[in-house]
Amino acid sequence: MKVAIVGAAGRMGGRLIQAVLEAEGLELTGATERPGHPQIGIDAGLAAGAGELGVKISDNLSAVMTDADVLIDFTFPEVTLSNLKICAQQGKMIVSGSTGFTPEQKALVEKYAEQIPVVLAPNMSVGVNACFKLLKEAAKILGDDFDVEVVELHHNKKKDSPSGTAVRMGEVVADALGRDYTQVANYHREGMCGERRKDEIGMQTVRGGDIVGEHTVYFIGMGERIEISHRAMSRNMFARGAARACLWLEDKSPGLYDMQDVLGLS
Ligand code: NAD
Repeated sequence: MKVAIVGAAGRMGGRLIQAVLEAEGLELTGATERPGHPQIGIDAGLAAGAGELGVKISDNLSAVMTDADVLIDFTFPEVTLSNLKICAQQGKMIVSGSTGFTPEQKALVEKYAEQIPVVLAPNMSVGVNACFKLLKEAAKILGDDFDVEVVELHHNKKKDSPSGTAVRMGEVVADALGRDYTQVANYHREGMCGERRKDEIGMQTVRGGDIVGEHTVYFIGMGERIEISHRAMSRNMFARGAARACLWLEDKSPGLYDMQDVLGLS
């Protein structure tokens, strides 16, 4: 399967190049960066520290996709939407790990997924996806007697808050408790904001240094507390998850899929 990677010089880009090179059945045929990026024209393998590959980083995704079956995209919602348009025009598949989509942007992704197979997941690690499953079970067992708070930590360059993973954790718990996440998520407490609402799900964000990503969901009861935590020590497992998603997509019909589908957890 021929793979192109967009955002090749980004924090995830280099890891994605490595993961594609390591995955049996995948071949890197293209890599792109934003127009004007200093690494345009440089060999993607050299940029990723993987040795020369003969694949130069380009700023022309349309041209790159003519020779690829699937695009891996870890960028930002506006960029992902324009990449989806190019993939849909050419009938190519896409695996996107971008986060921070508004409901309107998510609706546009769903539209494109009517034309091509799309995997969109805020977190591609097996561990985090196992956590989603554990959270659902925990919420069902613990019910409304436990207050739920989600706390996430990331590096100081992260653009979206809370993280897409934290939001998905909140949504999983809200769904299991029969609540509407958009109505019960509380992102901000300051001043005399009153007692905690019984049904709210607190969403707290910490930013600093080079933290790859840490998430803890607290189920806080009277006299006891359960914490379900995931700590990412490197970005490699996100990249390996994306490579796995590419291989999984090979025989899929158009539609919007996530990592729970890829891992057989849905
Ligand atoms: P980053 O800023 O280091 O990398 C993004 C890269 O995209 C940059 O190199 C940038 O120049 C490039 N880019 C921007 N516009 C472009 C365009 N039009 N064409 C080509 N390239 C373009 O960011 P990052 O830390 O690698 O994170 C990227 C995204 O991946 C974020 O949304 C982040 O939240 C998400 N992420 C998801 C997972 C997951 O498992 N799903 C894991 C880690 C990060």
